Amino acid sequence: MHRNKLIISTLFFVLFSQLSVLSTAQSSKLTTGKWLQNWYLAGPFQLEEGIDEYQHLGGFDTDFLEKSGGETNPRVNDGAKIKFDGGFVNWKYYKSQEPVINLDEQISKKSFVCAYAYTEIESEVEGVFILALGSNDGGSLWFNGKQVWDNPSARGFTEDDDLIPVAVKKGKNTILLKVEERGNTWAFGARFLPFNLNEFVATQSLFQVNVNGAGIPVLRFLLNESVAEKLFKSVQFEIVDSSLKNTTWEGNWPMIKDIVLPVDNKKYQKNSLKIKATLTNGNLWEKEIPFSSGKSIFYSLFENGKTDYVITIGTDASESEKWSAKELQRWLQEISGAVFPIKTDNAEMTEHELIIGYNKHSISILGSDTKIPAKTDETYSYKNDGAKILLLGGEERGAMYAVFSFLENELGCRWYTPSVSVIPSKEKFSFNYLNHSESPSIQVRNDFYYEAFDPIWAARNKINGAMNFREQHGGVEGYWRVHTFFPFMPPAEFYDKHPEYYSLIDGERIHERAQLCLTNPDVLDIITERLKETIRENPEYLIYSVSQNDWRNPCQCDKCQAIAKKEGSESGPVIWFVNQVAERIKDEFPDKYVGTLAYQYTRKPPANIVPHENVVVRFCSIECCFAHDFNSCSENTEFLSDLKGWAAIAPHMYIWDYVVNFSHYILPYPNFKVLQSNIKTFRDNKAIGIMEQAAYQSRGGEFAELRAYLIGKLLWNADVDVDEVIDDFMAGYYGRSGQYVRAYFDFLHSKLTPETHIHLGLRPDDILFSGNFVSEAEKIFDLAESVADNAEILRRVEMARLPIMYLKCKRTPIEAKYDGTYNRFNTIVQREGITHFAESGQTHVESFHREMELAE
Ligand SMILES: [Zn+2]
Ligand SMILES: [Zn+2]
Repeated sequence: MHRNKLIISTLFFVLFSQLSVLSTAQSSKLTTGKWLQNWYLAGPFQLEEGIDEYQHLGGFDTDFLEKSGGETNPRVNDGAKIKFDGGFVNWKYYKSQEPVINLDEQISKKSFVCAYAYTEIESEVEGVFILALGSNDGGSLWFNGKQVWDNPSARGFTEDDDLIPVAVKKGKNTILLKVEERGNTWAFGARFLPFNLNEFVATQSLFQVNVNGAGIPVLRFLLNESVAEKLFKSVQFEIVDSSLKNTTWEGNWPMIKDIVLPVDNKKYQKNSLKIKATLTNGNLWEKEIPFSSGKSIFYSLFENGKTDYVITIGTDASESEKWSAKELQRWLQEISGAVFPIKTDNAEMTEHELIIGYNKHSISILGSDTKIPAKTDETYSYKNDGAKILLLGGEERGAMYAVFSFLENELGCRWYTPSVSVIPSKEKFSFNYLNHSESPSIQVRNDFYYEAFDPIWAARNKINGAMNFREQHGGVEGYWRVHTFFPFMPPAEFYDKHPEYYSLIDGERIHERAQLCLTNPDVLDIITERLKETIRENPEYLIYSVSQNDWRNPCQCDKCQAIAKKEGSESGPVIWFVNQVAERIKDEFPDKYVGTLAYQYTRKPPANIVPHENVVVRFCSIECCFAHDFNSCSENTEFLSDLKGWAAIAPHMYIWDYVVNFSHYILPYPNFKVLQSNIKTFRDNKAIGIMEQAAYQSRGGEFAELRAYLIGKLLWNADVDVDEVIDDFMAGYYGRSGQYVRAYFDFLHSKLTPETHIHLGLRPDDILFSGNFVSEAEKIFDLAESVADNAEILRRVEMARLPIMYLKCKRTPIEAKYDGTYNRFNTIVQREGITHFAESGQTHVESFHREMELAE
């Protein structure tokens, strides 16, 4: 190569700088971070407008340098002629003053053309460097004659857009860039950056799975394959089927550009490619790439009021499976207008079926070796096999939950309250891939709102817990009573003859507001026998309570106190006693639990004694602050430490939590922010059940409908997106007014600070409601009412506003009386049949009205 002109133009500089540069004056020295500004340019070469922006322009792949060395080994020389089919151009040396080489100025302003840029780099070392490139538009790049980069995208210039690792030799290295121009600006800029292997693999896309029209997935290594061995010692692949979650293939990557991934392409499915690599520096690198395979076919469940589908249940389907088939039929008909006949698995299998539960039809699809879950297993799944839809789970509730979740997630059905369901109308519904599975966060979900006791609503919303047994589709996990010491051993029956069965208090055996003497062996015998009778007579419960009365006064006798002292807590004698009861009933009732309380004077766990496997410790949060969650409030520290203490020793916990203000059900109570965090804390501390005690005697509790609904969702899935559920409820239940009800909800919660603690007895004169809280809330509710979609929704908004009316009556009764608030409150209360303003019921209602009458 001779480059006379350049030598002359730079001679002065060269002579007075380094002599060693003389022989390679036209090269740049490799200095990381410094822009490459010496180039030989050639072009333009005419191309054709491309098919789309993800492919090169037409004719880009032509090697225009074929007659002068080729793209892999070009002969470059300032002024040298390049002959090609269609004409010739000359190489031209260009030293830019800018980092970016402007090809519009240096080559042409034409569109649909390409140009070459060539340079040589001198390196004193050998090693991997990053060649950082930005170009407008895409192109190809050869480093030392090997193509290391190809990017066909239409793009603007961005510094360091592509980071290309290159193996640099000691001495001379060559770069040939071919860059295309679709229109507007035409430019590029390049420089070397240091190569950090860990950083590189962490930030760069190295692999990509492309699926062709036939559904065949091809894995592509996005860098030049010659770089692979600079990055990796070895690479292992594993393919997992996303529905079945099993490994379908494992193997080593052969370090080539493209490989077809070996998956079953007969049906459409989703997979995950798990890549585990050992880097050349010994570090590990992992990556997961989801991809589909097989041809995506859409199946129509219904269209224009017609369907080809039938609902199939087993001939021996459970009660809840039969009921959910009817529910599925009912809601699908409401959505689509089409009638979906219900058939049994005795009928021959057809192409279009919604199959509920494990029966002949579903098993013939899943395979005869399918493991059928236990009756009580609540884990559910729904998925498709071609056109067929499988709705699966344990026969008691699992399959039923699959049906409701399918309707909820895929078709948008909502059962907000027992009387308000929101069911969308749809002209058509089609699917290509259904695959969803869930398991409950909490085994026994007891949503203790009046609104949540409706058994149909509860079944649809996956609520399965109850204080008292109730008839419900799929059944309930009942908790038999509480505070049972005296119900088992009434003082009226025993005290006269056996005062020693009761607490010794200040030297006297008493029975009024007392407990039992738990170390008296007769007490153990009597309670055990009576518990056995109870279970025999009421076998439908899961947990039977043997627990302290709802007051204090544990026995002070020497024997009881010896245990209490040794265990460092009054819970000591209780667990010591309950363990013996549990031991004595377990052979006859292996599936039942004995529940006992860790409550008030027994809240602290014992130091040594451990509850038996069939004992459930029922733990209560009654003293807590509910403005802040258990983890973030100093007032809850002791509670949390007791909870963790119990969780460390007890095999199971059952939580009695509180979500409402018992002193004023209707008062605003901003505890929504703690619901999720607290339920998660319980879940993570061995809770098999949670009872969220709320306004249970009547409708009308503050945001009762929303809280009942949200709590149901949280008990099922403690990780649910709470804001999403609330927004969905606001829009679905309150319609257009929902945005303002939400605004009020946010306004109320904005009153909380790290210093405002709220407890179960929150009062109307609390600082939270000071200033213009009421009038601001009224303004928001006026807006909410003004946009109510209809009279029914207006009634719902009025229910949400009731707490503000109540609060106004309590804070400024005279004003509330004369501006009509009190009257309106009474009208709504009467219309909605609200009987309880507080847990104390009639007493509270009467005193509320008396206060209002007296206000003058
Ligand atoms: Zn005693
Ligand atoms: Zn607090």
